[in-house]
Amino acid sequence: MANGEIKVCVVGCCGRMGREVVKAVSAHQRMRIVAGVDLVQVGEDVGAIAGIGEVGIKVQSDLRSVLKESNANVAVEFTHPSATFENAMICIECGVAPVIGTTGWTQEMVSQLRDLCERYGVPAVIAPNFAIGAVLMMKFASEAAKYFDHVEIIELHHDRKADAPSGTALRTAELMLQARGKPFSGPSGGDTHITLPEVRGGSKDGIRIHSVRLPGLVAHQEVIFGGYGQVLTIRHDSLGRESFMPGVLLAIERVLSLRGLIYGLEHLL
Ligand code: NAP
Repeated sequence: MANGEIKVCVVGCCGRMGREVVKAVSAHQRMRIVAGVDLVQVGEDVGAIAGIGEVGIKVQSDLRSVLKESNANVAVEFTHPSATFENAMICIECGVAPVIGTTGWTQEMVSQLRDLCERYGVPAVIAPNFAIGAVLMMKFASEAAKYFDHVEIIELHHDRKADAPSGTALRTAELMLQARGKPFSGPSGGDTHITLPEVRGGSKDGIRIHSVRLPGLVAHQEVIFGGYGQVLTIRHDSLGRESFMPGVLLAIERVLSLRGLIYGLEHLL
């Protein structure tokens, strides 16, 4: 890390988030893109793909050899739920701190990665949502969860999202349950006669979660609390992928000074 410069490898550099990360890191004074990994557009210039002109770094497909050759300090990972765990393991085994935005992480996967971070002495950050407003939405929802017995989450994303429900919806549910210390009451008013299967969404400890997928959307969520004669709605909208970049840059800056695995951007704010 000469001159305090952080050398960054972007894993999934040709994807929607990866391209945005390449732009944000390239524009940062103390960070430099040193490698890009993806399964597509191999051999093409990472900067050209991101729309910022050539940066002299070609897309490669073998993460392990890229990390060994590139001297990267940090690997930012936005790929696919089926690939993220293995990518994270490779980073840690290579001594490169991963900053992971890919969703689909189960609690078991998180705890396995935590053990690996300890064993190799390599820090890591996983954040289901890097947008500051979304982190605040989760914080406010956790606070409200102590006072309301009924809640439903509606998460809305673009139609090419790989997983459902979103990592943000699951994390919101986890944080609300932690803050409350007990499950929610679920729907009141007796059993609903269901005439369309799954119309009430999925259920986690009394919290109904509904996933909307439509072209035109980016990433949005409403947490709706119901009480006697009142409703409290907490809503966040990511209107563009640049909304995630201040959080990603913060995690890149902070990860190397951490110990072990940090799960959730709220721990870095
Ligand atoms: P995307 O446009 O599909 O980009 C993912 C890229 O990664 C694609 O180019 C994909 O190639 C590539 N890829 C897949 N497996 C790979 C592997 N093993 N090694 C290297 N590259 C691989 O997806 P996206 O919209 O950028 O989203 C990526 C992830 O980030 C999703 O899980 C999404 O939910 C999450 N996300 C998180 C946040 C947050 O704040 N934490 C915000 C937005 C999105 P192929 O096209 O060949 O599969």
